[in-house]
Amino acid sequence: MNKGRIMVVDDESILRMDIKEMLQEAGYDVVAEANNGEAAIELAAQHVPDLIVMDVKMPKMNGVKAARIINRSFDIPTILLTAYTEEELIAEAREAFIFGYLVKPITERDLMPAVEVAIGQARRVKSLMGSLKEMEKKMESRKRIERAKGILMDVYQLNEERAYQTMRTYCMNTRKTMDEVANHILHNRKLDVQSVL
Ligand SMILES: [Mg+2]
Repeated sequence: MNKGRIMVVDDESILRMDIKEMLQEAGYDVVAEANNGEAAIELAAQHVPDLIVMDVKMPKMNGVKAARIINRSFDIPTILLTAYTEEELIAEAREAFIFGYLVKPITERDLMPAVEVAIGQARRVKSLMGSLKEMEKKMESRKRIERAKGILMDVYQLNEERAYQTMRTYCMNTRKTMDEVANHILHNRKLDVQSVL
């Protein structure tokens, strides 16, 4: 079973191979490999992995900068691989979409839980963002319906309940949603209400 699609980025090819093997043995799909930050950005766009395991110190562009760009553009989380001497970069990493960092040498014992947690967390964040957007949409729709009801009350001198009932009835007659009818009213400032009043 595929547990997740991962991209591995490190300028040391032997370490890259090691990590790739560990991931594959644990059931992950390694969809891309890169040896610098610039290539990582390009491949992230092409393959859209679930997670990136990326070295910090690399030629052309370092891992922190690449992680930040990748997250901003494609919403993909990163685990950084680092050495003890790179504390400045780690501080920088806090601002990027970093789901953890591992200190070299990388062992299976450290890598696997970090990968599992990062993928799980990223999925939860995404689903949370999805629900938030859904909620926002519903609230916007409710606001539109309220405004449309206000227009009906004004234009046809209806009380609130009557205006709302008029919209409901119109919905049922025309097989439209409340939101569609509200949009129609907001746009035209009227409704063909003769049939429903
Ligand atoms: Mg390196």
